[in-house]
Amino acid sequence: MTGTLTFTMIKPDAVEANNIGPILAMINKAGFKIEAMKYMRLTREQAGQFYAVHKERPFFGELTEYMSSGPIVAVVLRKNNAVADFRELIGATDPSKAAEGTIRKLFAKSIAANAVHGSDSDKNALAEADFFFSQLERF
Ligand code: UDP
Ligand code: MG
Repeated sequence: MTGTLTFTMIKPDAVEANNIGPILAMINKAGFKIEAMKYMRLTREQAGQFYAVHKERPFFGELTEYMSSGPIVAVVLRKNNAVADFRELIGATDPSKAAEGTIRKLFAKSIAANAVHGSDSDKNALAEADFFFSQLERF
């Protein structure tokens, strides 16, 4: 087992638009291995726990409402330099600023409904993976 971990969610807008398959294909093509995956719906409270670092931000209410509005796919990924390489694959938070060919440029609807999550550090990747998955669900 080589490399490091990152955590992603395929967000409700991308699930609704039938883009689970195309997004997972891009992730695999970029060299990420899937270590854990589940299809589920977050409660508003769980979305708030996941995004607790943003609870003072003006968009927190909208974000937690949106993230609990429909099912998501939660995925733990492994690759060398996983966090930084995954952020490059997904592109900027605001899809209008995301580079051509990135997941958010291709699939995001707006700055809130931006198709995917990506961890911002190795430490947060581990914490986010542990939030969603037990050891028995990781391979
Ligand atoms: N978000 C939003 N409005 C903003 C900034 C962020 O709705 O002005 C949402 C968006 O869904 C984003 C999430 O909050 O993905 C977390 O924000 P962050 O700054 O951590 O962006 P990310 O790490 O997802 O690129
Ligand atoms: Mg972030």
